[in-house]
Amino acid sequence: MLDLKSLVRTIPDYPKKGILFRDITTLIEDPAGFRESVDRLAGLHRDLGITHVAGIEARGFIFGAGVAIALGVGFIPVRKKGKLPGETIGQNYALEYGVDTIEIHADVIGAGDKVLLVDDLIATGGTAVAAVSLLRRTGAEVSHSGFVIDLFDLGGADKLRATGVKVEALIP
Ligand code: 5GP
Repeated sequence: MLDLKSLVRTIPDYPKKGILFRDITTLIEDPAGFRESVDRLAGLHRDLGITHVAGIEARGFIFGAGVAIALGVGFIPVRKKGKLPGETIGQNYALEYGVDTIEIHADVIGAGDKVLLVDDLIATGGTAVAAVSLLRRTGAEVSHSGFVIDLFDLGGADKLRATGVKVEALIP
């Protein structure tokens, strides 16, 4: 097994002073690291009856698309407001300063579907919890999630678990 953590670069003061940004571009530039990240996220979620992978814009698309292919299921982009061309449903969530909105196409999933949520990183959990609420409003089941990185100190994974979602992270 590769040491995936060593392939992630930390950039200080991005996007603003005081933040240590975990940069996954160095991980995905490494073919073995990228493949292993996708293979391990998929391997943790085989034989669960997953029907779709939902990836959160934008880095969740990179890993989520690979996991969907590996599991042999479709991919749902969870996008920032105004990016999807069809009829959408949206969910607001709080940012440190202000509010953001994520959207999915309204007709893409529903009752009987079982969605795996994928993103590159969970920090405070605000984005993932909003995505789970949004996906569940369709009637679909969301009981599993996979992240490359869990910033454990920020408590997001516990917040997500409290909504009844199992949380897997490759780099805890
Ligand atoms: P949260 O809502 O859990 O606080 O933040 C998670 C979201 O913000 C994810 O979509 C993730 O891509 C992005 N994010 C926050 N901090 C970082 C970081 O240090 N590195 C990366 N790659 N993404 C981050």
